Amino acid sequence: MSEKKKKTGMASRAIHAGEPRERYADTLTTPIFQTSTYVFKNSKDIEEYTKGNKPRFEYGRYGNPTELIAERRLADLEGAEDCLVFSSGMMAITTTILSLVKTGDHIVITDDSYKKTLEFCKSYLQRFGVECTIVPFGDYGALDRAIRKNTRFIFSESPTNPYLNVFDLVLLKKIADKHGVMTLIDSTIATPINQRPLEFGIDLVTHSATKYLSGHNDILAGVVLGSKDLITPIRSLHKSMGGLIDAHCCYLLLRGLKTFPMRVERQNATALRVAGYLETHPDVERVYYPFLESHHHHGIAKEQMTGGGCVVTFVMKGGLAEANRFLDSLDMIFIGPSFGGAESLITHPATVSYYDYTREQRYELGIIDTLFRLAVGLEDVDDIINDLDRAFKRAKKR
Ligand SMILES: *Cc1c(COP(=O)(O)O)cnc(C)c1O
Repeated sequence: MSEKKKKTGMASRAIHAGEPRERYADTLTTPIFQTSTYVFKNSKDIEEYTKGNKPRFEYGRYGNPTELIAERRLADLEGAEDCLVFSSGMMAITTTILSLVKTGDHIVITDDSYKKTLEFCKSYLQRFGVECTIVPFGDYGALDRAIRKNTRFIFSESPTNPYLNVFDLVLLKKIADKHGVMTLIDSTIATPINQRPLEFGIDLVTHSATKYLSGHNDILAGVVLGSKDLITPIRSLHKSMGGLIDAHCCYLLLRGLKTFPMRVERQNATALRVAGYLETHPDVERVYYPFLESHHHHGIAKEQMTGGGCVVTFVMKGGLAEANRFLDSLDMIFIGPSFGGAESLITHPATVSYYDYTREQRYELGIIDTLFRLAVGLEDVDDIINDLDRAFKRAKKR
């Protein structure tokens, strides 16, 4: 990348990066290349391709031009040399992990990582003789002690869900370097606007592009980013696993990306206001937001992140009855998982994500009855606050 190009702002890059100025058929928007296969003009064309003289597309599972543009744009935004787009965030995570491990390897993952990632690491990988140590998030001593001679990598989400714990990436890199192991960060909650782990020397970054990157609660997609050397073997496995994103879906990702920096900045501002409102509300016990001074990881967040993101977690006063009445009283905010989209969403982890746990098991994980995770959308901040305010009032009435 030229020096001049590097200086372009994130908003411009989210719209233009990774796409040639000269457009196919002079279209302004990115074409959806709806094809499963690519044809050769003649035998000479085949020869040029097989000799490696002419990079081109061959078959749909090996890549698609719409997808290639998305990969280049995302690599630019994250400051990565290479990028791969997948059909979902979990497809990105599982394909990446599978490409890195072999029987006899050991991996370390923090206990505050995405539920399905943890499940994959501790259950499925074990079947193939890959051992996994789960360390408590934030216990850097335990992390250091967990690393063995055969440890392949350390994986963690950061910030995490729902308490928005923030990993000290400088410390993580120091520990990893001491032992010569790789580092992977699931940076979905941060986005490349609020944190860029590669700049801290992290080896690979994953995102569920289902969230902020596409930003409209309408597609599933995933991403892995890093150096060309690290991405190349993942790309090779990806071609066998077949978790490719569909071209139309990829177009929606590119479309969503155009407003991504604006959306995240707006959501950062809205969430900070909502977090401040909740913190002073008499019916709220506690608020977790990394850019509030009261957050347990506020110091690291301020040092290593440039915005707090759209997720605000809070504990209401009262019990399960009040929590349910609060949920039932919301008029605008929808009850549902996910975050980073246009619509504000709220989840009640006790009754949704952890419905199959006993109360004791949930409480051990910190999932208490009156805990809520609010993902602010793009609505007016006053309307979000008014909706919450009304719901708090109604929740108190029996
Ligand atoms: C949603 C999410 C995932 C999984 O992504 P999908 O696109 O749903 O497969 C992984 N990690 C984090 C932090 C997420 O929020």
